[in-house]
Amino acid sequence: MHSIVTDLFNKFSLSFDNYTRTHNDVHIAFCKEFFFKIYEKGYIYSIDVDQLFCENCKRFLPDRFVIGTCPKCGYPSARGDQCENCGVVLEPLELLDSKCSICGSTPIIKKTKHWYFDLPRFSEKLKEMILQNDRLPENAKNFSLSWINEGLRPRAITRDNLWGIPAPFPGAEDKTIYVWFEAVIGYITATIEWSIKKGDKELWKKYWLDSETRSVYFIGKDNIPFHTIILPALLMAYDERLTLPWNVSSTEYLMFEGQKFSKSRGIGVWLDQALSYFPADYWRYYLIKIRPEKSDTNFSWDDFQKTINNDLNDNIGNFVHRVLTFIYNHFNGLIPSPHTFDELDNELLSFIREAPIKASKFMDELRMRQSLEILTELSSRGNMYLTKKEPWHQIKTEPNRAATTLYVAAQVVKCLSILLEPFIPVSAIKMREMLDIKIPDGDAWLNAGTTPIEAGHMIKRPYPLFKKIPDRKIEELRNKTNTTKL
Ligand SMILES: [Zn+2]
Ligand SMILES: [Zn+2]
Repeated sequence: MHSIVTDLFNKFSLSFDNYTRTHNDVHIAFCKEFFFKIYEKGYIYSIDVDQLFCENCKRFLPDRFVIGTCPKCGYPSARGDQCENCGVVLEPLELLDSKCSICGSTPIIKKTKHWYFDLPRFSEKLKEMILQNDRLPENAKNFSLSWINEGLRPRAITRDNLWGIPAPFPGAEDKTIYVWFEAVIGYITATIEWSIKKGDKELWKKYWLDSETRSVYFIGKDNIPFHTIILPALLMAYDERLTLPWNVSSTEYLMFEGQKFSKSRGIGVWLDQALSYFPADYWRYYLIKIRPEKSDTNFSWDDFQKTINNDLNDNIGNFVHRVLTFIYNHFNGLIPSPHTFDELDNELLSFIREAPIKASKFMDELRMRQSLEILTELSSRGNMYLTKKEPWHQIKTEPNRAATTLYVAAQVVKCLSILLEPFIPVSAIKMREMLDIKIPDGDAWLNAGTTPIEAGHMIKRPYPLFKKIPDRKIEELRNKTNTTKL
């Protein structure tokens, strides 16, 4: 799966400093050391506990192997570790009417020993950390505080799984560390692995031990407690100097044509299928545009088609094509020299200067949707500017004014070719190829509005960047994905 996912990420132009997984020697060795140190510091202790045992399968049932009714919301298919309906984190014994998920029989309760992490010891510190962090999204803040206010309980960190990292505590030889505790430590070990690749194995400490480090965790809302409570508590327990999450970008859920994505029911589009239907940039653009930042959002084929046709094709694509074709045909491919700027020119030039600053601010706040909106606004302002200026008339009667118009419009294209890169990288690179410019050194993104493309610079032959999606294509995909028009 790791190599399949890596390949898909590449095809979607997603790049990482280190894309890894937790099944590796660096992670396993560090986790053993990490949890043993917490144990030695007295934050982990063993208790004799009742556990569900399946007599039919002849085994203790790890939490994910128990299915039952959620005691909080009544959802009938909650797992032993968490209810995916209401998000509450559970212990298997809390489930009502529990069943072994392997064979379906009702398990019995049997005594065994497990090791517990003393989470309540961190209640006050965690509460303080969350209250002081005014960047946290509303959903993360509310969920975490209510968890703490309900009273944190010690959490079992060992399991009777056959797989997993062996628990390093004396007497726990047949146990493994619960995957959720060990997985979050993967954030540290991924940076250790990266340091080793960089040739300086201590480099990770520079980030993890610096109070100025900003660590951001991109998660779905069902993962909030692991990132605002479990991970910070583990970090505090191991070494108080370790940097705590600066923010979590905990999105709400994305629905597919009004339904929950479901592998078993075939609801959704798989990444590899998606690429066979449309280029990666189309998906990237649309998925950012509907990113569930504040509430659940819905993918719909109609809205997808409308967005690609209106935003990408008619707005951005057409603008870039109109400007570059005009320069190519009427100015021999050379960016024309501007003459006097009038009010309309200055208005657009000042928006070009502001756009990167505004877009960056939203990016820092992890509001990608709003950041992208600034860029579509830049492009639609460019389109309106051309409509008002009518360079196709100016070129015949006032060629100097046409030159100024195209100079200003070319600055918009140049700015877009840099600012759009995080959103639609393949198209942004194509824009720069047509402009025949390289991404400048330094903070190219923030400076995109203040580093103009020079008059006299020669561009290459332009071509259209996007294609409209016809209705029949959408009908075809609707059939393929078993969805009906809403
Ligand atoms: Zn529930
Ligand atoms: Zn069973």
